[in-house]
Amino acid sequence: MRILFINLPYYGHVVPTIGLVQELIKQGCEVTYLLPFDWQEKIAESGATFQGYDNHRQLSEQIKNAYSAAESIIEKFDFVIYEQFFFLGKHLAEKYDKPVARIFTASVTNDKLMKEIITAKGPLSVFKYKWIARAFTKDIAKNIPMKTDNWLDEIISNPPQLNLVYTLREYQPYEAEFPVEQYKFLGPSIYERKEESFDYVKGTKPLVYISLGTIIKGAASFFQNCVEAFRNEDVDLIISVGQQFKIGKLKSIPTNVYVYKSVPQLKVLKMADVFVTHGGMNSVSEALYHGVPMVVIPFVSDQPVNARCVEKLGVGKPLTYSEVDKTSMKESVMSVLSNDEIKTNIEKVQGLIKKAPGNVGGAEMLIHYYEKAVR
Ligand code: UDP
Repeated sequence: MRILFINLPYYGHVVPTIGLVQELIKQGCEVTYLLPFDWQEKIAESGATFQGYDNHRQLSEQIKNAYSAAESIIEKFDFVIYEQFFFLGKHLAEKYDKPVARIFTASVTNDKLMKEIITAKGPLSVFKYKWIARAFTKDIAKNIPMKTDNWLDEIISNPPQLNLVYTLREYQPYEAEFPVEQYKFLGPSIYERKEESFDYVKGTKPLVYISLGTIIKGAASFFQNCVEAFRNEDVDLIISVGQQFKIGKLKSIPTNVYVYKSVPQLKVLKMADVFVTHGGMNSVSEALYHGVPMVVIPFVSDQPVNARCVEKLGVGKPLTYSEVDKTSMKESVMSVLSNDEIKTNIEKVQGLIKKAPGNVGGAEMLIHYYEKAVR
């Protein structure tokens, strides 16, 4: 089976799919991955054949470029798989009469969740103005028959028959609204990730790890508060400040604090005792998989929803960015670190993750679905 895998250039939307593509290839499929040309190296990790399209700063242009690149090669393929943000994947596959499936690298959205996400600040917040969402959609989907006139509504109300979701049903909000036959929950995407080497060696002290992911830019005052919170504490602290941040802005870093622009997160989570995170879907999933309780400081998009899930599952505590100072940071981390109930809850979630289908099961479901569709 020859698969065309279509995605947009957003780290969190690409990284989980690499493990799935590896598994599809292992199970005998040929996969061609379509992403902007500057993603070729990242995609090499998946083992897929790479096809490129021109990147652009604007999402609308990225979608248009992906669509026309996909259209020029689609005839060669048997099966189309796309990530939800490339919302025309189903339309394109139907036009060329190909079986199609969709991937969600975050939770699936219904009307209520989408409303929460677009009112929570962040890059999608402009779409809370319906006229902007409609104009955006009209510009991209000229001459493409749609069920609705708004791309976000199209994601919600025009689903393909098979949707794979990188979360557990147990922590999908409004899970009852997503039919069991149509929505398959894989749990987190865990696979052997190519990560840089890392020189930190854990001793006897608990390890606190802080990262706000790859998009949020933390202020110097925030990171300085993190340093101060643990200056005289009997813990080690690793902070990943992000590529844009100048580490020199932080004053007098003590010997128990290690600051990096970026770390191999899975390696760090294997050692960490608490994770202070912005609540990105990947970070939360990776922490749950490794059994690391969290302090979640949500900023934008789906992060507040994810923070609520963490709280609901009893695997961590929320903290508000504007309320972070050295005292609140220290108290939140220490209370999570010493909380036995959180430890028990996270072990339960780890058990569920171990039983979840993951990428192996996801690849099997895709192959099975394709075989049924062509029979
Ligand atoms: N990450 C990493 N090293 C870092 C910071 C982040 O490897 O120093 C990875 C992390 O493992 C996760 C991804 O970057 O897979 C962040 O994705 P997430 O969805 O949590 O947040 P986003 O960056 O999309 O806001």
